[in-house]
Amino acid sequence: MNERVRCLIVGSGPAGYTAAIYASRANLSPVLYEGLQPGGQLTTTTEVENFPGYPEGITGTELMADLKKQAERFGTDVRFGMVTKADLSSKPYKVTIDDEKVIEADTLIIATGASAKYLGIPDEQKYAGSGVSACATCDGFFYRNRDVAVVGGGDTAAEEAIYLSNIANKVYLIVRKDHMRASNIMQQRVFDNPKIEVLFEHETEGLTGDKVVEGANLIKRRGQADEEKVHIKVDGFFLAIGHKPNSDIFKEYLETDEVGYIKTIAGTPKTSLEGIFVAGDIADAHYRQAITAAGSGCQAGIEAERYLTEKGL
Ligand code: NDP
Repeated sequence: MNERVRCLIVGSGPAGYTAAIYASRANLSPVLYEGLQPGGQLTTTTEVENFPGYPEGITGTELMADLKKQAERFGTDVRFGMVTKADLSSKPYKVTIDDEKVIEADTLIIATGASAKYLGIPDEQKYAGSGVSACATCDGFFYRNRDVAVVGGGDTAAEEAIYLSNIANKVYLIVRKDHMRASNIMQQRVFDNPKIEVLFEHETEGLTGDKVVEGANLIKRRGQADEEKVHIKVDGFFLAIGHKPNSDIFKEYLETDEVGYIKTIAGTPKTSLEGIFVAGDIADAHYRQAITAAGSGCQAGIEAERYLTEKGL
């Protein structure tokens, strides 16, 4: 028989756990499924120094363990499992876990996040947490006065390069085409920044270094008569080639933008279906911070409680 819950939360990053803290303190008896990567993207970073309340910083893993403990303290039922299917065509909403168990939920909070895109070269995994990062705001601080590279030609890459230029000694921006896709104003800021060198028509072949990143092997104008191998010495290698929101399972039912971010009613966590709320990076292409995710998780928890009260559920 299907299990019926008042509030189902999917995702275990700061958004999911904060939603769970609010929902459990409001006696909604939430059930939270952790997903493939318990703790979410923060568990792939090292030190988190910009989450308010931790003057000395905290590791991503510890922060997530604390948030989980806080959610469980008020009765959240945290379970290991992955949503494999969703039927949001009628209420209660039906969500299948691990292709087996079906949960019927009066309210659903989707906090499945987004995944940074990687180039797909083996060295990205080899040096994960040892010089390779997909978040300049998270890890840039560790590269004070060092040389770093950012890959990408969009607004995120421009923004990350500019952010890093305030910390690092030099920033290479590796762009695969002969032009950038970023908005004109961001491009201009990049070009005007004396610390940023844009390497147009360069692709990354691999990374070098003993235990940590010490350099990158690039290829300039691949396939052209003047193709050239280029080596740059860098201590940090930042990916900024876009994110993929983890919305595939839900997007048949909910309005999304062209990339797949779930659309909300402006300023709220409400989606196009009543009783379904979103929190964190699944609906946020712009900020993608732990604290903004936590903030939207709080909003989703509060809205779930209001909805259930309104409907007498
Ligand atoms: P985008 O999809 O806009 O850009 C991705 C960039 O990465 C492109 O330059 C693309 O190259 C490059 N890229 C993709 N795959 C590879 C690869 N395998 N190797 C090398 N390069 C690759 O993503 P963003 O994250 O930059 O932006 C997402 C959205 O968020 C955009 O709409 C953007 O405008 C918005 N945004 C706005 C900001 C602001 O207004 N301040 C800040 C940040 C984001 P190519 O061009 O060749 O395809």
